[in-house]
Amino acid sequence: MLRFSPILLAVLYAVIMYRFSVWRTNRELNSKSTRLVDPRLNRLTDRMAASLEVDQVPVHIYEIDPVNGLAAPDGRIFITRGFYRKFQAGEITAEEMGSVIAHELGHVALGHSRRRMIDFSGQNAIRTALMMVIGRFVPFIGPWIAGMLTSLLAARLSRQDEYEADEYAAALLTKAGIGIAPQKSMFRKLAAMSEGHGSAPAWLLSHPKTEERIAALERLERNWGLYPPS
Ligand SMILES: [Zn+2]
Repeated sequence: MLRFSPILLAVLYAVIMYRFSVWRTNRELNSKSTRLVDPRLNRLTDRMAASLEVDQVPVHIYEIDPVNGLAAPDGRIFITRGFYRKFQAGEITAEEMGSVIAHELGHVALGHSRRRMIDFSGQNAIRTALMMVIGRFVPFIGPWIAGMLTSLLAARLSRQDEYEADEYAAALLTKAGIGIAPQKSMFRKLAAMSEGHGSAPAWLLSHPKTEERIAALERLERNWGLYPPS
């Protein structure tokens, strides 16, 4: 029993840290967000809701500047104020904004948002727990191995999740009659924004390479007999 207690402690620590980061994320989102009310966007979210056979797809505005969209652990969808401003300024179409909402809906529907806490402060908890466990068996380089394992795990999980969320969005946008084209043009616009300003929008940083995502979508379109567009 004594031999395993450091491992139990590490697991306990990870669980507590995870709970704490979920609580902190929710508190931050609650205090800095409002319900999105925009007739042009709501027209699109209503079409998605009809395709999903649910009453509505609620979206919230998160009052921060970086261009980002996110699915909270509790399943709520957020678009940042900075992202919404780009839409209001006409840099992004309603359909393109809709494709981001569909992508985030994918993370919720596929149950990614809980797992995605690993992308946030949950990573620290896993790293510390691994360090405590591995450090017991492998002194000196244990912490380094733990750090590497954590980043590998997080990168692998998030990459896989991103492609799945893109695929879900493509299916939903097709069913809702919005189509996959806005999804692809959105990726291109985000990539162009990052070239112009020297810093990539946050939404791109946490996602796979633009060209690979577009290629994956075109593979889907071919499989679904939608590509090349006739
Ligand atoms: Zn995503």
